[in-house]
Amino acid sequence: MVVSDQYSKKPHLAVLPSPGMGHIIPLLELSKRLVIHHGFHVSFLVITTEASAAQNQLLRSPTLPPDLHVIDLPPADVSHLITDDTLVLTHLCLIVRESLKPLRSILTQLDRPKALIIDPFTTEAFDVCRDLSIPVYSFFTPSTSLLAFSLYLPTLDREVEGEFVDMPEPVQVPGCTPMRTEDLLDQVRNRKNEEYKWFLYHVSRLKMATGIFANSWEDLEPVSLRALKQTRFFQDMPIPPVHSVGPLIKETEPLTESDKEIMTWLHKQPCESVLFVSLGSGGTLSTEQLTELASGLEMSQQRFVLVARRPTDASASAAFFNVGSDVNDPAAYLPEGFTKRTEGVGLVVPSWAAQVAVLRHRSTGGFLSHCGWNSSLESIVHGVPMIAWPLYTEQRMNATMLAEEVGVAMKPVARGGERVIGKEEIERVVRLVMEGEKGKVMRRRVKELQESARNALNHGGSSYDSLSLVAESWKDELAHEVLEM
Ligand code: UDP
Repeated sequence: MVVSDQYSKKPHLAVLPSPGMGHIIPLLELSKRLVIHHGFHVSFLVITTEASAAQNQLLRSPTLPPDLHVIDLPPADVSHLITDDTLVLTHLCLIVRESLKPLRSILTQLDRPKALIIDPFTTEAFDVCRDLSIPVYSFFTPSTSLLAFSLYLPTLDREVEGEFVDMPEPVQVPGCTPMRTEDLLDQVRNRKNEEYKWFLYHVSRLKMATGIFANSWEDLEPVSLRALKQTRFFQDMPIPPVHSVGPLIKETEPLTESDKEIMTWLHKQPCESVLFVSLGSGGTLSTEQLTELASGLEMSQQRFVLVARRPTDASASAAFFNVGSDVNDPAAYLPEGFTKRTEGVGLVVPSWAAQVAVLRHRSTGGFLSHCGWNSSLESIVHGVPMIAWPLYTEQRMNATMLAEEVGVAMKPVARGGERVIGKEEIERVVRLVMEGEKGKVMRRRVKELQESARNALNHGGSSYDSLSLVAESWKDELAHEVLEM
């Protein structure tokens, strides 16, 4: 571990995300805001995992502000704890647990930061920080609707016998929109599973936080935010104060040579004419599904940028721990002749693309997304309607909310009993979103939310003010400490 000895005189915070771009990106954005807008010095503690090109690029970017120090924690060996069957969350939690064993000495070497900000899966920090008297804030990286579900889960766990997915009625989190059991996140679909135990363990500890940051804002998730603040159930628990500070999304990213080629291609396309197809940092499709998707895209005759990953029939989150590292030739697994036939209409890039740069481009008019929370926020912030293609974790919940409550996404459906979504359905939905009436309605709605997101984050907006309030309280405490010395 390299700890900088050049501590500035600014108040010092530490931030501790769990592995995965979906956790690292929003916590890094929060850190940047705390440095740039609120005058803090932030130590950003990174749990070392297998090399990931995309992650390295982000964390080593020369554009990071000077008071944001990225510190790599010593790597932990978990190879003896995992097998080929270990599911992604269990794997992640084991890495976190092993990596945080030296946390006490790390925080002590860092001269005890003013506060530590963790994410939903680094809650081991609560015990260490209690002993060191460091307040811990949790940045809940997924939706507020999942936050409400997570805070309710220990109660559900006590009251329900058997599997939640077998419940006859939707799950009713107090004050929230009922959640269909088929949309429940993977981690709670089998309670005998290790993943469920890990999930329950971490979310049960959320209550130990001094405050919870939600990556959302009132206009996007009014029902869940109100439920957490006003429902008797949550008031009685009681839960820590919830500060909605979102949408915090990646703002800039370094462009690789391949990204520059995408930009050059996008510059030549008409306004809002291109569908961006990308399934998050870890999403992969089966061979059969990838073939249908490519064929549906081709049949739709719409312009597209497709981020292609080598298909796998094993797990939809296969690329989670080595995002963007798999250099491959899409011609080897896309339908024969696909790239040639779609030349000029579509662009295929392997593994990874600078997603925010693509979504921000004026030629991008639709996003076929796995509905990870960061991707969903990025699409909304850039005013791009979505085709919802959920794959794993809580993405089905997000997809349903975006399609049915928020009105910015459309979900293609597999024909009764079939495992894959067919090419005809893909063609239909792509056309509807890119050139149909439905697309126009969704585009109008997403542009309203884009405006509302901008207002929330601007100086004097609700999210800006929520973060300022907490930041000021940290500084006030510091001022008191200095006076008392
Ligand atoms: N991302 C990207 N390029 C890609 C795929 C993903 O820049 O080709 C970024 C995306 O912009 C988002 C993050 O990776 O910020 C993925 O987070 P999300 O919560 O959407 O999903 P997860 O990958 O955690 O499932």
